[in-house]
Amino acid sequence: MDNPIHRKNQGIMLRDALRTLEPYVAGQSELGYIKLSANENPFGMPRSARRAIERALKDAYRYPPSDPHLLRQNIAAHHQRSAKWITVGNGSDELLNIIAASIMERDYEGIVAAHTFSVYRQVIRLYGGKVVTFPMPEGALDWRAVLAAVGHRTHIVFLANPNNPTGSYMRSAELTALLRALPPRILVVLDEAYADFVDAADCARGEELLSQHENIVVLRTFSKIYALAGLRIGYALAAPRLTEAFNRIRSPFNCNRLAQAAALAVLNDKGSYQRARAIILAERQRMQEALRRLGFSPLPSQGNFICLPVEVPAEKYAQRLKAQGVLVRPLTSFGLPHHLRISIGRPRENWRLLRALRATRS
Ligand code: PMP
Repeated sequence: MDNPIHRKNQGIMLRDALRTLEPYVAGQSELGYIKLSANENPFGMPRSARRAIERALKDAYRYPPSDPHLLRQNIAAHHQRSAKWITVGNGSDELLNIIAASIMERDYEGIVAAHTFSVYRQVIRLYGGKVVTFPMPEGALDWRAVLAAVGHRTHIVFLANPNNPTGSYMRSAELTALLRALPPRILVVLDEAYADFVDAADCARGEELLSQHENIVVLRTFSKIYALAGLRIGYALAAPRLTEAFNRIRSPFNCNRLAQAAALAVLNDKGSYQRARAIILAERQRMQEALRRLGFSPLPSQGNFICLPVEVPAEKYAQRLKAQGVLVRPLTSFGLPHHLRISIGRPRENWRLLRALRATRS
């Protein structure tokens, strides 16, 4: 791969690992468009978060607490645990990096799904590791496929559950079977960024397994249902020994005051959470049916988005929708060049999307 940051004979020698890093491809964002490209909460930040930010502003000239203990305690209580199990990060993106930094050595292998969030691959490579992918026939997260990818140099597995961008999930019984079969040296990172949108009773929940297995980290974020994507804050739940390591690695003031204050507020704002969840789940159902009526075959989804196979190359289809005023995510960089990922928006935005899809078909 020609990577311009790694040309030889230009003075500074950058690390070899950088040769394999790909730039992150973010969902499009442009003023004046309906944005269904980044799986955000379309209802915006709850009033409780705005008020907390306004209160925190007067102290913004001071460093935030280096150990956000109050927030950690509240998160811990939310999961019936103690603060010793919680690491707070600058988005779950940063936590993925911290986790990889604490596990990976050169030439270790890390396992990721064939079609999933690209940051897993990045952090494996950043520390000199090798990415091993497991196949996802029909978009399924199959525990046997994960197990088949394990070698004697495997030290980490990243699983998004539900998965971005397919919306598929691993069942509780399957995750239990996987954890029983994996050697305990392998850390399983269960990225539950979309767990709040799950309504399938048999979907695995990492926190239920934390007490039985030391080799799990569960990641949650305030970017999705809690609507704080722009503030960058998320957290990891893991056994105290791992949590202590993560907290040593993270930079001392990684979560700013405004993000900490807003996270505390939304965590205790059950009303906003329930309202957003109810509407998004109802809209997801309505959109699935409407898309099928239009002749599409959307994948079943447990996230706040729908993965849609399209006949035309995804980039081209996304351009057509953009011409109709709607931004969606072509999934070429996820290895799915004929699929789009469409976030669930407000009801009116979803209507606009359906109208745009209809227009592209006529
Ligand atoms: N994990 C998954 C599966 C995601 O889809 C995303 C965001 N798109 C993240 C993590 C990153 O979330 P955060 O905003 O907390 O960094």
